[in-house]
Amino acid sequence: MNKQDKHLANFIKAVAFAAEKHRRQRRKDVEASPYINHPIALANVLSHEGGVDDIDVLCAAILHDTIEDTKTTAEELEQVFGAKIMSIVLEVSDDKNLKSAERKQQQIEHAPHISHEAKLVKLADKICNLRDILTMPPAGWSAQRKQTYFDWAKKVIDGLRGAHPQLEAIFDAVYAQSQTFT
Ligand code: ZN
Repeated sequence: MNKQDKHLANFIKAVAFAAEKHRRQRRKDVEASPYINHPIALANVLSHEGGVDDIDVLCAAILHDTIEDTKTTAEELEQVFGAKIMSIVLEVSDDKNLKSAERKQQQIEHAPHISHEAKLVKLADKICNLRDILTMPPAGWSAQRKQTYFDWAKKVIDGLRGAHPQLEAIFDAVYAQSQTFT
């Protein structure tokens, strides 16, 4: 297999792996969209809006919530996808032992210090989460709650600026739509 075929095969393996791990999960929107739509959206943003073609980043985007939100372990990811992809996923995973407010604070504090690859995944994650809140918000979220989430996401992204100006501009454009909250 040449390098490109190997990359494609790896990416498909990541999609299948994440789909299996997230198969019983739904997003928090009113329609309870399939969870897997979210990691696929990240990879799509990175590839088509950010021009990112680093296969480790694209695979890590697909796998980014498997440690945090499923029973997948770092060891398992390393075994199937290698140490590089595992470490990017680990860098964007919250410590579930901490309370929600602490986890949010940690994301702000950690963002400047994570690897370039992890910064790209985090940028795409925040872009996708804000877009979801704009177009299909979780049931019962007030304008205030949406604004608080947007402002927190911006603090995280402000800590990693310079990683990818194009994606940062996309994030800023999505953030600016919080003006439509009423
Ligand atoms: Zn995510």
